[in-house]
Amino acid sequence: MSDFDLLVHTPEFSLGVLDGLVAASGPSLAGVAKEVLEVPDGRIVPGWIDAHVHFNEPGRTEWEGLETGSLALAAAGGTTFFDMPLNSTPPVVDAASLEKKRLLAGEKAHLDFALWGGLTPDSLAHLEAMAEGGAVGFKAFMCHSGLDEYPFADAATLRRGMKIAAGLNLPVSVHAEISRDLPRAGHDMAAWLASRPQSFEQVAIRLALDLAGETGCALHIVHVTCPEGIDLVTRAKQQGVDVTVETCPHYLLLDEEDAIAIGAPAKCAPPLRPAKTVARMREKLRAGEIDTLGSDHSPSSPELKTGDDLFAIWGGIAGIQHGYPLLLDRELNLTGPASMNVAKRFKLRGKGSLTVGNHADFSIFIPDDRPIERCELLTRHPISPYLGMPLKHRVKATFLRGAKVDTQTKGRFLRPDFS
Ligand SMILES: [Zn+2]
Repeated sequence: MSDFDLLVHTPEFSLGVLDGLVAASGPSLAGVAKEVLEVPDGRIVPGWIDAHVHFNEPGRTEWEGLETGSLALAAAGGTTFFDMPLNSTPPVVDAASLEKKRLLAGEKAHLDFALWGGLTPDSLAHLEAMAEGGAVGFKAFMCHSGLDEYPFADAATLRRGMKIAAGLNLPVSVHAEISRDLPRAGHDMAAWLASRPQSFEQVAIRLALDLAGETGCALHIVHVTCPEGIDLVTRAKQQGVDVTVETCPHYLLLDEEDAIAIGAPAKCAPPLRPAKTVARMREKLRAGEIDTLGSDHSPSSPELKTGDDLFAIWGGIAGIQHGYPLLLDRELNLTGPASMNVAKRFKLRGKGSLTVGNHADFSIFIPDDRPIERCELLTRHPISPYLGMPLKHRVKATFLRGAKVDTQTKGRFLRPDFS
């Protein structure tokens, strides 16, 4: 008789797994196990739950795909992803498109997954059906989404959508930037950075917070880049608004100077910010004011991600494989924003921490000190803004429900658990 299916020993922490669940954990563990893994230089990290990816399947698999995307996330220590309702085709804006993606991801994804439904002017009548289909929440854009097929939500749409979502007990997440065309000073990266100032975010965040307060809707503001935006959220929390805020590794690792040096692979919206802002965002993370960490992995085909006109090329950073490990290298404590807070916010039962009885979702990081190389990228296209950056630790293996993730692993669909 074995006590465990798997027993992992690292210098600081041991983990016993039985039937896919954490059966025991502690500084050291004794017991009989079918398999024992000794990792003398390893560190066990709870699985990253990345609540913000665009794997673009179905419909735009030439941009990424569920298989490549999930394997790249596993290589970063991720165990669960939430796919956004765009840039797949069709976008997820009704029950049929949600079901289509659910079936496809059940076949192809190598990690557990949840699915966002879309909140657009045309999808309001479909929110309830998407909730029944298991959507984890609804995503709205407060400015042009980059794709005409996914229209943005004006204030009236957002208000109506939030009312419906509140009734369904599901959160609404927003891309908070307002749309305004400033006079352009050229088409290079500097012009792109100047075209979407932090004030655009702050105006949109204020509006979203007001609407959340008014409707009682749970609000999740994605990819906030500036401390002033985080402050608005913190103040709203104190006033009783049900709100959480996400940032992405690239807003904590890369600044405007990097954007200019890297070029097209560093184009995203909102854009990268000055070094001072980035440093203050890290302080916000340390202070616990940032609830979740999402990759906003948003790749495209290489053709769309090259060129001199920074306004014309695809706006999305493909950094899922190294952003999170780079942050871990910087000794930031990410167990809350990367795992625990995400599971709690989105009501994922059995996820978010390695407490006994939870899913044994974790990765083992080992020292591996070398620059990030193109040849190690597992994404469909070897594009990343992090190439050449030194990385000191890499994932030796990632475990999903106690089993090592590989190309045979099948992910499960996760619905929010309201019990
Ligand atoms: Zn996104």
